Amino acid sequence: MSHTKRVESSAFQLTVLGTRGSAAVSRADCMYFGGNTSCYMVQAGDETIFLDAGSGLLLAPTAFRKTPVILISHYHLDHIQGLGMYSRLAQKGLETVLYLPACDAEQGKTLIDGIFSPPYWPLSLSEYAGTLSIRPFPDKLTIGEVVVDTLHGNHPGDSLVIKLQYRDRTLVYATDYEACEPDFTNLVEFVYGADLVLFDGQYTEEEYQSKIGFGHSSYVAGMELVIRGQVKRMLIVHHDPQSTDRELRRREELIQDHRIHFAREGETVSI
Ligand SMILES: [Zn+2]
Ligand SMILES: [Zn+2]
Repeated sequence: MSHTKRVESSAFQLTVLGTRGSAAVSRADCMYFGGNTSCYMVQAGDETIFLDAGSGLLLAPTAFRKTPVILISHYHLDHIQGLGMYSRLAQKGLETVLYLPACDAEQGKTLIDGIFSPPYWPLSLSEYAGTLSIRPFPDKLTIGEVVVDTLHGNHPGDSLVIKLQYRDRTLVYATDYEACEPDFTNLVEFVYGADLVLFDGQYTEEEYQSKIGFGHSSYVAGMELVIRGQVKRMLIVHHDPQSTDRELRRREELIQDHRIHFAREGETVSI
């Protein structure tokens, strides 16, 4: 008699589905780092957790072992625009859970319907054949074995910095975040010792000087976060629509730190 025992996967990995900030782009000189807006797929054992639902969500698979969960950092369009075209939501019998910040259950539905309904969109997401379960993003959340923690970031209209802890490993997603004190010191504490941090390094220091208050950081702030926060690896994310592949590679070479690189659409990183 043979017993088939399913080997439980302990993989903890992140796939970059979209890492462009502010608006999607499609040009020959930005195809290496990619043109889709913010969306990352995290696999932690059997759990699938999406960080944001920008246009990169269109690249996501639709079948999973367990009900996938989408965590939204904030409501800016580049972080939610993929929801309307994610084909899983149109498949009858499939459920997807969506956690939204700063709302109760009713407000959450109203906020999403405000964008995905006529005249802006042909129909509301609740009219799709699949089931989208909208829930308020609580202060403390557990998804299977994954412990989710958040910190309020410095961004116009607020944005959540999201920490995922799975077994002994930690991932922090700090997008749409403008580094300035004393807020930055809180972030240093929040990320301390993390295995992987995704950090909004949209600008150079020079560009940042004319973008103060826009809610994004220079990649130099990311370098400081790696050092002060003892971060093991960092992906710089939320690339500016104007930044070409050549420019992003130039910045990577300037940094000369093997712990830091600029996120590329389609890459998978083990945590
Ligand atoms: Zn953004
Ligand atoms: Zn934003």
